[in-house]
Amino acid sequence: MLGGSSAINHMIYIRGNPWEEVLPYFIKSENNRSPKVANAYGGRYHGVGGYQSVDFMPESLPYDSILMKAYKESGYSQLVDFNAVEHIGYGRAQFIIEGATRASSAKSFLKPVKNRKNLHIIKNAFVTSLLFDSDNTVRGVNLKIQGKHVMQAITRKEVVLSAGAFNTPHILMLSGIGTRKQLDVLNIPLKAELSVGKNFQDHVFVPLFYGLNQPISNYYKLLIRTIFKAVRYIFNDRDQLIVLDRLRNVLAFENTKNHSAEFPDVQYYSAYFPKGDFTAFKFFKIHNYEPYITDSFRKHLAKQDIAGVFISALIPKSRGMIKIVSTNPSDHLWLDTGFFSEPEDLTTFIRAIRNQQLLFNSPIFKKYKADIIKLDIPGCAKHTFDSDQYWHCYVRHMSTSTYHPSGTAKVGPKTDPDAVVDSQLRVHGIKGLRVIDASIFPIIPSGNTHAPTMMVAEKGSDMIKQFYLDL
Ligand SMILES: Cc1cc2nc3c(=O)[nH]c(=O)nc-3n(C[C@H](O)[C@H](O)[C@H](O)COP(=O)(O)OP(=O)(O)OC[C@H]3O[C@@H](n4cnc5c(N)ncnc54)[C@H](O)[C@@H]3O)c2cc1C
Repeated sequence: MLGGSSAINHMIYIRGNPWEEVLPYFIKSENNRSPKVANAYGGRYHGVGGYQSVDFMPESLPYDSILMKAYKESGYSQLVDFNAVEHIGYGRAQFIIEGATRASSAKSFLKPVKNRKNLHIIKNAFVTSLLFDSDNTVRGVNLKIQGKHVMQAITRKEVVLSAGAFNTPHILMLSGIGTRKQLDVLNIPLKAELSVGKNFQDHVFVPLFYGLNQPISNYYKLLIRTIFKAVRYIFNDRDQLIVLDRLRNVLAFENTKNHSAEFPDVQYYSAYFPKGDFTAFKFFKIHNYEPYITDSFRKHLAKQDIAGVFISALIPKSRGMIKIVSTNPSDHLWLDTGFFSEPEDLTTFIRAIRNQQLLFNSPIFKKYKADIIKLDIPGCAKHTFDSDQYWHCYVRHMSTSTYHPSGTAKVGPKTDPDAVVDSQLRVHGIKGLRVIDASIFPIIPSGNTHAPTMMVAEKGSDMIKQFYLDL
């Protein structure tokens, strides 16, 4: 898909920490449309001339103000900008949007240059492997167009692989770049022995729900509001966001271990489900929850509004891995997420849940009679509700992915047994091949991964230009 995950993601613009060293590359692509953010601190932290539009969502619901008040009452600091001087606190997130619409990488970076003579885009093309000449030099890629036509694309200089943290390692392994142990089993001739697919990292995501016995909004009123906005959007006003999204624009970051730390270890997303909003179950379907969990949520939503907090742990210690299990490029990979292989990652969630309990006990949430929802999870019934053991069990049952896969073609020196690419993002032991995507992160960024991936792309493109200019 043109634009990759940026064409379907939640569009939240967060850089992770720390980023001071690579700040010029964040600034380079950024077109921050909020003067309040762009001009603060003498304009030092944000770009305004880049291809990537970043802005606040124009939409705001009453729940957003209630949540902001709750954070304030609970002693959190309010931040106008999560991507500047302070990193711990709550506030409204900025999004990768242009007016009312998503600013995917395809729209932002490709559309403006689509008529350039040196750019050729082949749509519906699926790369099946790399094409080598007699030695370890990559000469191009093998691809299939629309699932039928086999083709080769030959390069004059080099191939840049940007197929994401799952498919980049897949293409590398299909082409003989990986561990001997895995490739031998499939009789794939080894070109370079590298730890491709190892070092998999993601942000685990755990939702927590509170029933609000005092309603905030009415589902049907919100629906009518959205229909009006949609009509207005179609006919004249392209600057109003038209989503009735459950995921709200208030975020918070904190360090659950050390309150005076500079950087957070958890991120809190927020969601609001008005009573009777039965389209909300899409959330459970997307995340593949067991039907008994969805049924339990449905029963609660029939009775009351529900506030959701989605806890995402930002600095996981656990590592997973991706394995190739077939030589057919269309077959799925085998993924061991490794989630909670390091028990410390579980305790981060317990601390975060306890902090969220304090938040939902704040005066404003008391006014809305917030009450924690006990979902029917048979596997956790043996534990006393609200004990640490119960929450351990809950976290294991309810955890899912924030969709930030990273690290499967790690950058690092040749001496690092886990490194796949060097500091110039060239694959070790192979000529004419670079990787530029979320696979190269040695450690997952401690925030959403779109902006950091764009930063890597900006830095990578500078490296390529520099390399050929120096020749
Ligand atoms: C549901 C969801 C929500 C998210 N929300 C956010 C968010 O709010 N904020 C944020 O910062 N991040 C978010 N992310 C993460 C962010 O989108 C990704 O980290 C980022 O897009 C990664 O970029 P990438 O270039 O590494 O990979 P991708 O965006 O996955 O791009 C890989 C591209 O390669 C193509 N491709 C793969 N294999 C082949 C092949 N064999 N042949 C040809 N083409 C191929 C794919 O079609 C795709 O276009 C979200 C991700 C998802 C999935």
